Amino acid sequence: MDDETLKLPHGMQIFQRGWLSSNNILFICDTQTALVDSGYVSHAAQTLALVQHALQGRQLDLLINTHLHSDHCGANALLQHTYGCQTLIPEADVHAVTNWDEEQLSFTATGQECPRFRFDHVLKAGDQLLLANLSWQVLAAPGHDPHSVILYCAQEGILISADALWENGFGVIFPELEGESGFAEQAATLQLIEELDVRLVIPGHGAAFTDKQAAVGRARSRLDYLSADPKRNARNAIKVLMAFMLLDRREMTLTQLSACLNQVRMMRIAAAHLALPIEHLLPQLIQELIKAGAARLEGEHLLSC
Ligand SMILES: [Zn+2]
Repeated sequence: MDDETLKLPHGMQIFQRGWLSSNNILFICDTQTALVDSGYVSHAAQTLALVQHALQGRQLDLLINTHLHSDHCGANALLQHTYGCQTLIPEADVHAVTNWDEEQLSFTATGQECPRFRFDHVLKAGDQLLLANLSWQVLAAPGHDPHSVILYCAQEGILISADALWENGFGVIFPELEGESGFAEQAATLQLIEELDVRLVIPGHGAAFTDKQAAVGRARSRLDYLSADPKRNARNAIKVLMAFMLLDRREMTLTQLSACLNQVRMMRIAAAHLALPIEHLLPQLIQELIKAGAARLEGEHLLSC
């Protein structure tokens, strides 16, 4: 890739993380420091170490969450405890965070964890944020998460796309699993992104990339494939949730996996879409994860690769 197009503005840096944690974007200028997204709880100490190292003794003033999935806000509590930073969350999540409703916040439903944190301000579509002396526009990006926002800097042509657009795809369309609309919203979000003038996309996961149009094209065909048969979305969702659990725990027994499919609400709902008994479904999913290079089987243990 062209080094010039990948170049970040002064005061801005990306911590590209493994798949379990979202990427973090740090902004430093004379008047303020800010971080976008904080990763998963099991990597919280690593997130703090990365931030501390980069800040060289300065405080973190602002913490911004694109959305409140556990892999984007898992170190919020630790960062707040360490720095007392002001925290901005999407407006639609205020009620769930105020009451710490873990079901509504998706943590219980996905079998994931996130320590309780507080918020100070909200992010609304149309807001402007000043980060590293640049103006960033807050845009609504429903689809993967109905409340997600993305951040766009027109002056630099940079988009922080969260899980709405990755170089190859996007996050699971969770609302559709529960009978709510998500495919149409994701299509509209891709349309919105297509119309932005962007030279660099910083996704929630994976490396930053420059060819936004090609990524939008791939995302559209993926969305067409998933929305043509909702079972495909359900199957993808279970595999993503299983792969996430494996990444966190390193290994799980077949008994544990089977219990999760029965007990973790989002997995149970997705499995119900597939209308197969768990004892038939689980071996299929395991084979697909192995084929995708996400896991390997050793006797009764499935291990993360
Ligand atoms: Zn997400």
